[in-house]
Amino acid sequence: MVYIIAIDGPSGVGKSTIAKKLSKILSINYIDTGAMYRAIAYKLIVNKISFDDHEKIKEILNKTKLDFKANHLYVDDKKVSKEIRTDEVSKVASLISSYPYVREKLVEIQREIGKYDSCILDGRDVGTVIFPKADIKFYLTASVKTRAKRRYLQSGKKNGLTLSEVTKSIEKRDFDDMNRKCSPLKKAKDAIEIDSTDKSLKETVLKFLSYIRGN
Ligand code: C5P
Repeated sequence: MVYIIAIDGPSGVGKSTIAKKLSKILSINYIDTGAMYRAIAYKLIVNKISFDDHEKIKEILNKTKLDFKANHLYVDDKKVSKEIRTDEVSKVASLISSYPYVREKLVEIQREIGKYDSCILDGRDVGTVIFPKADIKFYLTASVKTRAKRRYLQSGKKNGLTLSEVTKSIEKRDFDDMNRKCSPLKKAKDAIEIDSTDKSLKETVLKFLSYIRGN
């Protein structure tokens, strides 16, 4: 039987780390929906396409091949990783994710992927829009301070950013993601909220597992 686990929540809360771990434990596919927005953003940057040239963005969107193989995103058959994780790509991904035609196209691909195999997906609209009938939905939160500190230690510092810059960037993305007209980030009514502010990664994973396994 195919089943879907949805994890939504704000930036830097650890959704992808948790989702990856759960996908291994449960032997199901992991789909990072944010990576798909990042991939399109990256292609716009590389091809020097203006972020308000909607015709060109549509062209890129329709020409780009997005696949997940062994839990990794492949863009036009090329595996992508670090290049889509920069601060610049984060900002552009957040901007273009507010364009309805971008969301429509990516949601279509995400739904198709979830049709055939059990999956755990993380993002901003998994439980509200992509799979409103997901078998189990989670909304993962943590304070801005905790999220900024984690993101800073994970990548910000390496990329030459200060803790205060990382905090501002997270606050802006929270605001934009929660206040856009199309599919804003919000907790689905039937989602289980988990706050990871004072929890270790292991404790958070165990909390998820206890809900998934119903104990
Ligand atoms: O999750 P991640 O930080 O990689 O996502 C990058 C951006 O893509 C987010 O800030 C958000 O604006 C957008 N996004 C979205 N819907 C999703 C996943 C990501 O709007 N399902």
